[in-house]
Amino acid sequence: MRLIFIGPPGAGKGTQATRLAQRFQIPHISTGDMFRAAVKAGTRLGQEADRFMKQGQLVPDEVTIGMLRERIAEPDAVRGFLLDGFPRTTPQAQALEQALNADGVRLDHVLLLEVPASLIEARIIGRRSDPVTGEIYHLEFNPPPAEIVERLLHRKDDTVEACRARQVAYQRDTTPIIPFYEGRGLIRRVDGVGASDAVTARISAALA
Ligand code: AMP
Repeated sequence: MRLIFIGPPGAGKGTQATRLAQRFQIPHISTGDMFRAAVKAGTRLGQEADRFMKQGQLVPDEVTIGMLRERIAEPDAVRGFLLDGFPRTTPQAQALEQALNADGVRLDHVLLLEVPASLIEARIIGRRSDPVTGEIYHLEFNPPPAEIVERLLHRKDDTVEACRARQVAYQRDTTPIIPFYEGRGLIRRVDGVGASDAVTARISAALA
């Protein structure tokens, strides 16, 4: 199974992608997580990516595409993968298609998680992640257990300014890939509003 998740920032891609990857036993490949790990490790890639991420801007295609191509060539991704946060531009979508064609394989589905812009800011500002379990919470909509609140992390780019820049980047750079995949008959639209279990059920129905 080869899946892609597309959706605006804060649509719930990370939460849903984790569940789906477990269900299909495929690696959950998040370019955002890969960049954050590189920033934490202080590598050159991390230093370069950090400049863009902090401002809510996209990391340049040449950096992102190279990183993703290497990742999907690893042994665990040979039988399938779930991409979360890639592709985010038309050149990235084209590069992925070329890489898959070269391997003689195809995408199965492109899930488009739809959430209205009016809900996005509140979702992002209250978002917190647990560094121990990887679980994503929301202070109001999906409150964490009291005993772990102290250890939760708030992403550097989950601020109002960076969030607005990320929405602009999504509209400008990422939405053009929707017709790209529509033309290939791969888009599955899923309503991302509501409880995460309800969204998971809609995703299962869309893939059935
Ligand atoms: P995410 O965790 O998917 O929200 O990504 C966080 C940040 O990482 C984005 O705002 C970008 O700065 C960067 N990033 C992640 N994936 C990509 C991508 N496919 N292309 C360019 N930048 C990316």
